[in-house]
Amino acid sequence: SGTWHRTHNFSEASSRCYSSEPSLQAKEGNGFKGHGMLAPFTAGWQSSDLHPLLIERSEGAYVYDSNGNKYIDALAGLWCTALGGNEPRLVKAATRQLNKLPFYHSFWNRTTQPSLDLAKEILGIYTARKMGKVFFTNSGSEANDSQVKLVWYYNNAMGRPNKKKFIARSRSYHGSTLMSASLSGLTNLHQKFDLPAPFVFHTDCPHYWRFHLPDETEEDFSTRLANNLENLILKEGPETIAAFIAEPVIGAGGVIPPPKTYFEKIQAVLKKYDILFIADEVITAFGRLGTMFGCDMYNIKPDLVSLAKALSSAYMPIGAILVSPEITDVIYSQSNKLGSFAHGFTYSGHPVSCAVAIEALKIYNERNITEHVNKVAPRFQEGIKAFSGSPIVGEIRGLGLMLGTEFVDNKSPNDPFPAEWGVGSIFGVECQMRGMLVRANADNIMLALPH
Ligand code: PLP
Repeated sequence: SGTWHRTHNFSEASSRCYSSEPSLQAKEGNGFKGHGMLAPFTAGWQSSDLHPLLIERSEGAYVYDSNGNKYIDALAGLWCTALGGNEPRLVKAATRQLNKLPFYHSFWNRTTQPSLDLAKEILGIYTARKMGKVFFTNSGSEANDSQVKLVWYYNNAMGRPNKKKFIARSRSYHGSTLMSASLSGLTNLHQKFDLPAPFVFHTDCPHYWRFHLPDETEEDFSTRLANNLENLILKEGPETIAAFIAEPVIGAGGVIPPPKTYFEKIQAVLKKYDILFIADEVITAFGRLGTMFGCDMYNIKPDLVSLAKALSSAYMPIGAILVSPEITDVIYSQSNKLGSFAHGFTYSGHPVSCAVAIEALKIYNERNITEHVNKVAPRFQEGIKAFSGSPIVGEIRGLGLMLGTEFVDNKSPNDPFPAEWGVGSIFGVECQMRGMLVRANADNIMLALPH
């Protein structure tokens, strides 16, 4: 029951080992127990009686809590601190820019040199196909939110105002703003938020192990999913579907790499019905999979790309959208008519974030980050896959520095453990007690090491 979670999993286990004085925390505040922050993805029983783990300092792949305990940061923060915790060059880049120009915006044909330089760098480094322009945001959610507006603007300009629907996938994660949560295919992001928006549809999660039929090969599974996508498009009317969005490897939904031939078949369907492909590379970009971008790994030729996280190794908030030359042309001609492309944020292209990102890209290049990931990843993957014989480990999956596993009874996707047992959260807490921070979501465990 929930009570069991409350008393054992979190309060007891974490306070036993790591909390300094949870009872003191509980006395503070304003009627609610605990601290004053309404914390993201927390609240309720997960926080009200719980002393949060206070992370105070980082060093390489490690973080330290306020009691001096050291942990391997096995999710790289939130899949983002690719260069680890104390890269002095990033700090220097930020300080240099803060001293010179801490802020100027990029509205109304004003901008700053770091924004221009970073846009140029990103266009140079992205080689899966030629891209036209870069639009800056502050996060991955804002990037995906902006994708929706951009696609609508584009289709309005193209004289097809009914082509406005989006197709995303179950178990995907695209962020938590209104639009990006709608695109996400995780029920907890929709529950009680009146989401998803009515113009968003979700097609199959491409998880072969969990969803394949008896005797179905990976290739046949991919064919079936592409057929299902086509059927959904035909049901809704191809003239109403604007875009499809996908993470090259599903991240927060459980680290789910695509089955063989999946993206090839999906792209063929999209092309047939003139539907744009948005690649959400917020986690997979900058070497995580062993290629610079996930699109390189799976031969994806997207129309739009979302970036964030490792773009600045998370030292400063920044996200970006890559826009194809064809869409760029239409946006330019439309805004010539309307006067301006009225979309943007105060901090779009923030000079300090851009300066840090430029330095991060320089480091990825100098350290030959993809070669490095390909060198260290086998040890990581094989080391953890050595546990795949365990009867409670269903599947261990992943590539590069990204890995997911899930606990089930008898290794079968059809035999989950009762939710109230909290197997995944017990594992998460036990990892924490042994000095490693992982992501545990239900009985899924996820890891994404710093590079
Ligand atoms: N897209 C993907 C694939 C993500 O994994 C995330 C965050 O984890 C987002 C978008 C949202 O990014 P942010 O949290 O920066 O808004």
